[in-house]
Amino acid sequence: MMVDYKEVGLRVGLEVHRQLDTKCKLFCSCPTESKDFGREIVFTRWLREAQSELGEVDPAALFEAKKRRKIVYHTDDKSTCLVEMDEEPPHDLNPEAIEVALTAAILMNSNPVDEIHVMRKIVIDGSNTTGFQRTCIIAIGGWIETLGKKIPIQTICLEEDAARIIEQKKGEIHYDLRRLGVPLIEISTAPVIESPREAYEVAKYIGRLLRATGKVKRGLGTVRQDLNVSIKDGALIEIKGVQELDLIPRVIELEVVRQLHLLKIKDELMKRGVSEEEIRSQPIVDLTEIFADTNSKIVKKKIVEGGRVLALKLPKFGGLLGLEAAPKIRLGAEFAGRARAWAEVEGIFHTDELPGYGITSQEVSEIFKKMNSSSIDAVVLVVDEEDRAREALERIRERAIEALYGVPSETRAARPDGTTIYMRPRPGAARMYPETDIPPYPVKPDYLERLKKNLPPTLDEVAERLVEKYGLSKQVINELIDMERAELFEKIIQETNVQSTVVASILTEHVKSLKRDGVRVEELRDEHFLEFFKLVSEGRVAKEAAPDILRWVSENPNRNVSEAIEALGIRTVSLDELEDKVNRLIELNKEVVQKNPGKAISIIMGELMKEYRGKIDGAKLHSIVSSKVYGQTN
Ligand SMILES: [Zn+2]
Repeated sequence: MMVDYKEVGLRVGLEVHRQLDTKCKLFCSCPTESKDFGREIVFTRWLREAQSELGEVDPAALFEAKKRRKIVYHTDDKSTCLVEMDEEPPHDLNPEAIEVALTAAILMNSNPVDEIHVMRKIVIDGSNTTGFQRTCIIAIGGWIETLGKKIPIQTICLEEDAARIIEQKKGEIHYDLRRLGVPLIEISTAPVIESPREAYEVAKYIGRLLRATGKVKRGLGTVRQDLNVSIKDGALIEIKGVQELDLIPRVIELEVVRQLHLLKIKDELMKRGVSEEEIRSQPIVDLTEIFADTNSKIVKKKIVEGGRVLALKLPKFGGLLGLEAAPKIRLGAEFAGRARAWAEVEGIFHTDELPGYGITSQEVSEIFKKMNSSSIDAVVLVVDEEDRAREALERIRERAIEALYGVPSETRAARPDGTTIYMRPRPGAARMYPETDIPPYPVKPDYLERLKKNLPPTLDEVAERLVEKYGLSKQVINELIDMERAELFEKIIQETNVQSTVVASILTEHVKSLKRDGVRVEELRDEHFLEFFKLVSEGRVAKEAAPDILRWVSENPNRNVSEAIEALGIRTVSLDELEDKVNRLIELNKEVVQKNPGKAISIIMGELMKEYRGKIDGAKLHSIVSSKVYGQTN
């Protein structure tokens, strides 16, 4: 679908979150990264009543509180302390994190506040043990400039990262507590971005500025982008958790398609003359008896477990629930997302997609008959415990009414394919209140002056330095920087004697080509590359083995390169073994070595390559052989 983004009035604001690579967490001295874990700790909490100190119940908090879930935390005593468990008050703000955030603020022409005040933001999905997330404004206003356009910055905040979800099942959720408290910088732009591509460029540019501080974490899970997307006549939709930069344009494109689709449905419902009262007055009907002998596995299973099949008629909605604007973008999917999020039900069906799921056309006619409806209407069925099924249908009724008005404003979560799913209502304004356990942190003018005078080089300056130092093209260096492998590149050059062009091409070209083949290259860590190049440098493995080894490690991210070499059956050659072999070949070709060293080298190389091709680097071998041959002649 071709969309003219100017015409639809697309407006996007970005919120870039990035973990800081400080030594300690934001409010305690636990490490921000643990290499070895201590004694395992597991404990359980229940969601508590959620009311802000202003006495108003926040809609987003209410949503979570309704679920009454058991929350299980997993951690260890080296990565977390009593602060993360909410058994001890937070310590003072980490000055190292503040310095990184202030540096970023200066780089974005933002105005640091005089005094940093920590606030509590209600978050009661269990991702924070306290029931709120601590956050503070570091700087206000500012701008960045990319592609010739000034993008205003609204705020720069510092907050604590939340615990990470490990597992979610009905009535229970498991979190890894280790990430809680890791400092997170949050940059919010004004909603002035006008195309999916521009959003990508702005996010990339902010990423480069943040990385210039030299104190941000890299790799999987260290960056999360939230997008505020709206179009003319649509609504402001907050999309959470886009991890990959490349996914940003896709998420926005699909969100525009979704909003346009909902507007189209609204027009159609108007045309059909559907009214809010008509939807409100529909009873919820128990249709379990129709399915007494059903062939539908899911329906049967739920009924055996004691569930009921409840149904709601949506008058004159026939055909609109199944209408698809793009894969997964249907009104039916909107209803299901809402029902699943609020009532945690599994079996949801509507007549636009029936017969199907083992439900027969005979059963469908029964449904229509019982509901006193025809195919001009839609009937939604939920099979689950009666309370849950009823709750799910009430949520669907509410969502159906919203369809009469177009696009409901809500918070959605991004999925890896770029589509989104309903997450929760948008939080209200009553969500923040002051944290009284932490004293304000003054930002002194002379401190700011010092930071301004000692700003880190920009990544453009870093690129220039690298081009000069390693004689590589600007394009290759920028690629290394954008793939966040420039620091690693320098480290490899320092610690091994592999040529810079070889290192650069494996870090960029090889990795990109593996990615195109669908290999999960995000799993490759610095240690993997460093170990590989050390082995190449020692002549123990050929650089040509890179694609096979990197592919294997991507698939087995907790193993190392030596294990990859063993698993792949790549024979490694020790330097001693090689030297022995070369000495023997020199002995065998003694005469040629004396008379014509050049010819001797090619004979010996020929012999060696027969045995070691692909196992050892040819250039490396050549240098060993020639130094030995010429050593004989002098
Ligand atoms: Zn701690």
